[in-house]
Amino acid sequence: MDNRNPDTLDARIAAQAAEARRLSGQIVVGGRMQPALATGSFEVENPATEEIIGEAPRCGEADVEAAVAAASEAFPKWSRTKARERGATLIAAANHLERHLEDIARLSSFETGNALATQSRGEARTMVDILRYFGGLAGEILGDTYPGDPGRMLYTRRDAMGVVGAIIPWNAPLMQTTSKIGPALAAGNTVVLKPAEQAPLAVVRIFELLQEVLPPGVANLVTGFGDEAGRLICEHPAVRKITFTGSSAVGVRIMHYAAEKIVPVTAELGGKNPIIIMEDSDIDRAVGGILQGLRLQRQGQSCSAGTRILLHEAVYDRVIEKVIDGVSGFNIGNPLDEAVQIGSIISRKQFERVLRYVDMARETPGARILCGGDRPAGLEKGYFYTTTLIEGVPETSPVACDEIFGPVATVSKWTDFDAVLKQANDTRYGLAATLFTENLPAAFRFIEEIEAGFVQVNQFAVAEANIEYGGTKLSGLGRELSLASMIQHFTWPKTVFMNTSAA
Ligand code: ADP
Repeated sequence: MDNRNPDTLDARIAAQAAEARRLSGQIVVGGRMQPALATGSFEVENPATEEIIGEAPRCGEADVEAAVAAASEAFPKWSRTKARERGATLIAAANHLERHLEDIARLSSFETGNALATQSRGEARTMVDILRYFGGLAGEILGDTYPGDPGRMLYTRRDAMGVVGAIIPWNAPLMQTTSKIGPALAAGNTVVLKPAEQAPLAVVRIFELLQEVLPPGVANLVTGFGDEAGRLICEHPAVRKITFTGSSAVGVRIMHYAAEKIVPVTAELGGKNPIIIMEDSDIDRAVGGILQGLRLQRQGQSCSAGTRILLHEAVYDRVIEKVIDGVSGFNIGNPLDEAVQIGSIISRKQFERVLRYVDMARETPGARILCGGDRPAGLEKGYFYTTTLIEGVPETSPVACDEIFGPVATVSKWTDFDAVLKQANDTRYGLAATLFTENLPAAFRFIEEIEAGFVQVNQFAVAEANIEYGGTKLSGLGRELSLASMIQHFTWPKTVFMNTSAA
């Protein structure tokens, strides 16, 4: 580090504040970062300080129209670029983002409240990795050849769909961005993406950087509200595919928009994910898994967070004691501080949602808050909240059923494996599920019977490139992060049947 510019917390904050101001009011259309046509805007807040750090355009019809037009114009050339050449361009784009990785991560921490050291920096690496992965796969978009009957040739090809509308949430905007644009662009589509209104700026920066490598119009970004810009993107007739990550409620809306035009949707939605600990499990490994599963580096704001912890009676007290001990060791504070492991919840609205559920638990007869349930001491400003474990809520309570999306989990005791499997499946959601055991037959039974798309045994890991990800039930439709999912969701099949015989 340059001595004249020490990398102190204050210097980090000042640098990101300047960057947030620079990116304010900008969208990215047709190869250029530029002010939006819309005159309205909304404020972007630093949730760790409650300070307004910038603003983003509240795009409406004119901006969405311009972005879709730019994407439509770029489509014929991009889709007809040789696949491996397209892939090489995406790999160059990934390399370019990697050169700016630290700044992107810091800006994301500044607007999301996610800690730089434990979340944003790693997420930025994943962002690059995902784009590079899909760039490498562009040449693998293969069709099928059918048996060669005399005089006829039958095969399928996979063609690009056109303009893809991508709508992403605020909890992990960096990796969400490339999870959407990586497969869409590698397959030859062009994109219009809308980031969440709570965290648009780092994504604007990513798109600004992408323009330095990608042809104009291939990757466009508009900002705005979900039921304005988001809806307009989804409803636009030229948008031939929608890829969405967010709440199940909005997922339903998105599918309605798509139904009107009969276009496919990929939807990664909510979760209320069980972690089951058996009596024979390695306790330290299970405790480590629970601590990972709480996703505290994102303040629990993860759709795959393990928020229903189901502990066998024989290990209940021991595991809880160790988890509480583990949780209390994390350092909560300003996300740009290198020593901080847990940052702040994204917004006042989300913070109040967490408070409401914890209050609900407090008012439930028999329920007990085992730890947390409060703001951390000494942090009066910002949406900081302690990790909260709750026992004794009935299974039918909203605390046990709803996706809270914060650092809150329920714990409960079980004795019968059949019953706990039933309890684990007794949810509207079906995203992630985890089991800790040394019992192989039990593990396989869990794998067979659990209704979840992302199933783990004896670990809690998170999605990454080449590990297919997605849910069932209210948790969504389709898969991400794999070659198969790119081919299935970002291309359409064309059957070709040729008569090869002489006339
Ligand atoms: P969260 O509850 O995590 O904020 P949402 O599902 O509300 O998640 O939002 C995820 C993304 O979906 C955001 O970019 C948001 O603007 C967008 N969105 C919300 N409502 C709609 C809608 N009706 N149509 C299209 N996009 C929407």
